[in-house]
Order: sequence, then C-alpha cells, then structure tokens
Amino acid sequence: MSLERLWAGWRREYIVDATARERAGTMALDGVDCVFCRLAQSGGPSEDNLVVWRGELTFVVMNAYPYATGHVLVMPLRHEASLAGLTEGEAAELWWATRRSAATIETAYDPDGLNMGANLGRAAGAGLPSHVHLHVLPRWSGDTNFMTSVAETRVLPETLQLSWKRLTDAWPG
Ligand SMILES: [Zn+2]
Repeated sequence: MSLERLWAGWRREYIVDATARERAGTMALDGVDCVFCRLAQSGGPSEDNLVVWRGELTFVVMNAYPYATGHVLVMPLRHEASLAGLTEGEAAELWWATRRSAATIETAYDPDGLNMGANLGRAAGAGLPSHVHLHVLPRWSGDTNFMTSVAETRVLPETLQLSWKRLTDAWPG
C-alpha cells in the first residue's frame, strides 16, 4: 500500500504545512491544528491512522516518516508541550506505553538493540515540538546511528501498514 492510503493528517503536505504554521507561531494553542491532536481524535487503531494502541490518556502510533522499520511514537492524547506539564496519570501511562512499545518491538522484530528517547524543542530536532512525544525504534547491528538516520530518508523493507500489523498483532492484550 502507498502513502496515498494514509489518514489525511499523515500526508507530507499536511505535516509540512503544520510545521510551518507552528514555526510562524500561528498554530492554535489548543492544538486544533496539531497533527498529533488530530491523530488522537482519529479513532481507535486502524491501518489508515496507523494507531497501534490507544489508552485512556496516551496512545502509540507508527511514525509515518520512520528512521527505521517499526518506529513508533508514544504521546499523551492531550495537547501538551512538556514532560513536566503532564499530569501524574498521563506520565505514568506514557511510561507504561513506552515500556510496552519496546517489548512489543522486541517481540515483533527481534532487533539487536533499541533506541528510545525524545527531542524536546525545535533546537533538539523535534519537528512538532508543541505536542510532546517519545520515539521507540528497533536497531540492527550495522545500521546507521540514530543521529545520522534522523536526517535521511530511509528505504524501508516493508510498508507502514505491514509494520502496523506486525506491532498490533504482537501488542499484548
Ligand atoms: Zn497536539
């Protein structure tokens, strides 16, 4: 399946436009324009929105522009820029979902290693810094390092929809 099949908010033109509006300071503060808020409101897990898991306060979604196959994002459903701004409940579920994502990636891909982390703020490399999110992605011996891979367009060995299916199938419960 091609990128054209993706949920509209994941399309590159939309991301580029949203990023430009955020940079210009014209994005609505309530997250109305936010790609991640739209994802949060796009319903339960499906092949179109690429949501892998949706909890009460947080959700896990495939990164539509991944650094590696199986790359997911974990974030609060609520529009919030900082880790410190999360409620205790959101923070707890975010960490639970991050650990569960790491375990699910290990089950689905059996990688040699795993990167987990966040780019907080535009200077740190966040494309959409106003909605905090954690990256979790599998790594294999011999692939490029995390920092290098951020700047590259990767040629991926499987479609996003297949990655989504692998991870939703492996997600426990
Ligand atoms: Zn948002």
